[in-house]
Amino acid sequence: MKPEEIERMRDEALAAFAAAGDLDALQAAKVAHTGGASPLALANREIGALPPQAKAEAGKRIGQARGAVSKALAARQTELEAERDARVLVEEAVDVTLPHDRVPAGARHPLTTMMERVADVFVSMGYEIAEGPEVEAEWFNFDALNFVPDHPARQTQDTFFVQGTREDGKPTVDDESGIVLRTHTSPVQARTLLSRELPVYVVCPGRVYRTDELDATHTPVFHQIELLAIDEGLTMSDLKGTLDHMVQALFGSDMKTRLRPNYFPFTEPSAEMDMLCYVCRGESVGNADKPCRTCSSEGWIELGGCGMVNPRVLVACGVDPEKYSGFAFGFGIERMLMFRHNVEDMRDMVEGDVRFTRPFGMEI
Ligand SMILES: [Zn+2]
Repeated sequence: MKPEEIERMRDEALAAFAAAGDLDALQAAKVAHTGGASPLALANREIGALPPQAKAEAGKRIGQARGAVSKALAARQTELEAERDARVLVEEAVDVTLPHDRVPAGARHPLTTMMERVADVFVSMGYEIAEGPEVEAEWFNFDALNFVPDHPARQTQDTFFVQGTREDGKPTVDDESGIVLRTHTSPVQARTLLSRELPVYVVCPGRVYRTDELDATHTPVFHQIELLAIDEGLTMSDLKGTLDHMVQALFGSDMKTRLRPNYFPFTEPSAEMDMLCYVCRGESVGNADKPCRTCSSEGWIELGGCGMVNPRVLVACGVDPEKYSGFAFGFGIERMLMFRHNVEDMRDMVEGDVRFTRPFGMEI
């Protein structure tokens, strides 16, 4: 084991480290020149076979060579790591001045939050949420609710027929009933009575359809929320108290409602429900100095329809009207959103422009 051979091994290792252009190449050179199969390691292993004098000399030389090699390796390692870090800083730099918000954050639609807010008022009173299909059997949408076959609401100018009826009122297919896009959430009343045990306290939010053109005050797709309570001994005063509680929960504790006689096929007696104008609290009535735009100085805002469930509806749904009675009411969510938030054009609600929904945020 000649000294120059050991020097050659050392110099080859140093040259290989110097030539390594990156950390991967250095790792390969490290394995080749310091690993268990490297020339210096093999030479080290041969020392044991040498005579004592030669053993000491060779050991010293190889030890020095290996020391020089590992020192050179560590130095090159440090050098290459510094180069890599400098390169990464340049290549992966983030320009914090670039605009980051080109896709505007969305918000939940105010119709959704409004509907949930109204439903929550009733859920907190123990009502359950009930839902039904939007493509509905004509029987559920009309017949079960006491709409006679020639009722104007069935005419095609109001109703989207998916599977129509003939002019004589008979179905066009061998089906017991036509299929419509539901024109109100009331069919959920009939479905609820047929599927749940009495007593029933449900609130039914949902999407409904009418053949209206889209304009500032009409839309062919809109939302209603409907309430149905059927129990023993329910009266019109329960209805009135429930309505008052709802408007107080939504508009403030001094709110109240009033009922005006009306006609709906599925309730008897029926009424229009008005709520006190939440802007002027009725103070604009007869007060020319303080006119109110919201209620046109009438003091009341029309909210929707209500009444005691018609016994015919109960009978159609298998409920004994001698034992049970109840009330129902419903109103449009779009309309409530319009007067509660001064939305003047219904088209804003359907066009999906985030600039409309964002101010409402997550809550209204
Ligand atoms: Zn008013």
